[in-house]
Amino acid sequence: MTPTTPRIAIIGAGPGGLTCARALQRNGVPVTVFEHDASAGARPQGGALELHMTTGQAALRSAGLHEEFAALARPEGQEVRLLDHTATVLFRYAPTPASAPAPGEADRSEIDRGELRRLLLDSLTPDAVRWGSYLRTLHPLGDGRHRAEFDDGHTETFDLVIGADGSWSRVRPMLSDATPHYTGVTFVETGFEDADTRHPEVARLVGAGGMRAESAGRALIARRESRGRIRLYAAFRGSQDWALETGVRMTDTEAVRAVLLDRFADWDERLLALLRDSDGGFANRPLFALPVPHTWTHTPGLTLLGDAAHLMPPFAVPGAGLAMLDGAELARALTGHPDPDEAVGAYEAALLPRAAEAAGRAARGMAEALGPGAPLRHLRDRPR
Ligand SMILES: Cc1cc2nc3c(=O)[nH]c(=O)nc-3n(C[C@H](O)[C@H](O)[C@H](O)COP(=O)(O)OP(=O)(O)OC[C@H]3O[C@@H](n4cnc5c(N)ncnc54)[C@H](O)[C@@H]3O)c2cc1C
Repeated sequence: MTPTTPRIAIIGAGPGGLTCARALQRNGVPVTVFEHDASAGARPQGGALELHMTTGQAALRSAGLHEEFAALARPEGQEVRLLDHTATVLFRYAPTPASAPAPGEADRSEIDRGELRRLLLDSLTPDAVRWGSYLRTLHPLGDGRHRAEFDDGHTETFDLVIGADGSWSRVRPMLSDATPHYTGVTFVETGFEDADTRHPEVARLVGAGGMRAESAGRALIARRESRGRIRLYAAFRGSQDWALETGVRMTDTEAVRAVLLDRFADWDERLLALLRDSDGGFANRPLFALPVPHTWTHTPGLTLLGDAAHLMPPFAVPGAGLAMLDGAELARALTGHPDPDEAVGAYEAALLPRAAEAAGRAARGMAEALGPGAPLRHLRDRPR
């Protein structure tokens, strides 16, 4: 670092921003994270994340948190089942029953998002995150510095602003004109509480980790979480406005259920039970992506990581793990280089091709999972 330590802001306390903050602080670099959420527990963090050895787990290792992760992670969550719409199991993978993977076997242990956020937050100094701070805009000051303006009206000036603010980043427009587009695929999310006791058939079908059933443009994707919960996504190709077009409100659980059952009407009853018996309501999650490749010209004082840099559909590539790897790599560049601007340039030179390759893989993964040849084509092309 330069003799005068640069003022660094990270916008967004997602997995990417928090990993970057932790890795910087661990190396003595001061940083402040600005997060829209009012507090750490302000909203549910969503489902389980598979963290791969070469991305999320590598990032945690370089942030000095791998042991803590291993204590929380669920290696059994790596179990995968691929079914077709008749509920025939086409492929099954179960990890070796030890926490350490067998030689050549890639560990992809799972952790709940909420637990990961807590792990990362607990590793930071108590004042590192400013909750309830939504970045509205950035004003370039012409010398590489930017004045950040927040929703509550307060402003602060930084030497480096790191956009880790996800899909609808407010930092990204300073670097690129790209905006996320609808991929043509929507997930509708629901779940099961206390599945082993209350929904034993569903629990057996899903197994210890994740289950996917696929057939021509539709998929049911279920995943175990901690405390007996199973999260389910009904995925289909179609209009982003499907609910409006079919005249249902997402708050009308039984009407949404009826539309989904109709969409999957030719599927086996054992799979339809996933839609028929779920607890709670349904949430609409249309999938968006940035163009591939998404690039920008290096601009002093600004950079991006995670979904802000390379939003892609959640197929074949672990988006959270990639965001964490970006965060760790950016921190490594900043702590290993005397000139922060050159450090960011070196980080971006490695990031952009890595992100383009991953985003291409995610797009192909989605095309295969929801294409006309699914699930057999997807199965044939599986890497393992
Ligand atoms: C349905 C679905 C399922 C997925 N499943 C998986 C999975 O199983 N495994 C996996 O690895 N990935 C999965 N992903 C992808 C994963 O969620 C993302 O890639 C990952 O969360 C990106 O992390 P991030 O830190 O870049 O951004 P985010 O996690 O989006 O975090 C951004 C943070 O910035 C904050 N923020 C946003 N704007 C502002 C602002 N202007 N000012 C201040 N704060 C702001 C937000 O509140 C948020 O906390 C899934 C995605 C979807 C849509």
